[in-house]
Amino acid sequence: MTDMPTTPASRPTLDEWLLSVVEAFDVEPRLRRVVFTADALDQLDYRPGQALVLRMPLPEGGTGRRDYTIRGLDRQAKRLAIDFVLHGSTPAPNWARAAQAGDTLLALGPRGRSVIAPQADWHLFCVDETGMPALRHMLETVPAGTIVHALIETASAQDETPIETAAALTRSWLARGDIPAGPNALVLEALRALPLSAGRGQAHLMGETSNVRSWRHHLVQAGLPKTAITSEGYWRPGRIGGHDHVDD
Ligand SMILES: Cc1cc2nc3c(=O)[nH]c(=O)nc-3n(C[C@H](O)[C@H](O)[C@H](O)COP(=O)(O)OP(=O)(O)OC[C@H]3O[C@@H](n4cnc5c(N)ncnc54)[C@H](O)[C@@H]3O)c2cc1C
Repeated sequence: MTDMPTTPASRPTLDEWLLSVVEAFDVEPRLRRVVFTADALDQLDYRPGQALVLRMPLPEGGTGRRDYTIRGLDRQAKRLAIDFVLHGSTPAPNWARAAQAGDTLLALGPRGRSVIAPQADWHLFCVDETGMPALRHMLETVPAGTIVHALIETASAQDETPIETAAALTRSWLARGDIPAGPNALVLEALRALPLSAGRGQAHLMGETSNVRSWRHHLVQAGLPKTAITSEGYWRPGRIGGHDHVDD
């Protein structure tokens, strides 16, 4: 397996967007989509998989950083969608549940290295539900026939909704059921049973930090070059906002 150029680094300075809510609705029982508009949104230059840093209002006052993936952008209509996992009663899901037309949110970005490398022969996604907006948007936009394997951890079988893609997609849904969200071996066990295909692969790992780390370690041991792996801890028990780089 040969080495592949890395995906682009995030920008040093981030553009600011004052997002205004157009509408909000549930797309799944535990997933709420908020559609925003903003001046100059037609000029937002991003790659599917990238995210915005939202300045989320906090109950104690002020705002805190919360990273959310761009789920889609209609440049002509200046409409941008973000999907919020309703994982609990915390600032971001609470804000999304209550979002009304006209509410505003400051966003910075785009940022992030989890984007499709077109030179890869195949792509592997390992995600939990927080990585699904990225997976869905990236797979909507890959060329027809792109070879993709996806291992997807969900809360329950209710979250297994169709994935729109022209890719040649094989996927495994792995429902937690009674297991709480957090460190677990669900995806890791499926990954251990998945032989890596020949050719240049690219892996996209997004989810709870310790799970992402275990997936990365497995793939490195299995022979995938580190440069062919983008891995980021999207959340972690006890961690408030932000994200963990998983590069070891
Ligand atoms: C680049 C990037 C892109 C992301 N994209 C998305 C996205 O598109 N949609 C999305 O829903 N999330 C996404 N996330 C994850 C999201 O930013 C975090 O889940 C964030 O912590 C949510 O903020 P909060 O206000 O709900 O919780 P916080 O105030 O940050 O945390 C409060 C508590 O909730 C726990 N917690 C946080 N998230 C979860 C979770 N998913 N499940 C269980 N417990 C949790 C924390 O560990 C903490 O104990 C992304 C993260 C990154 C880094």
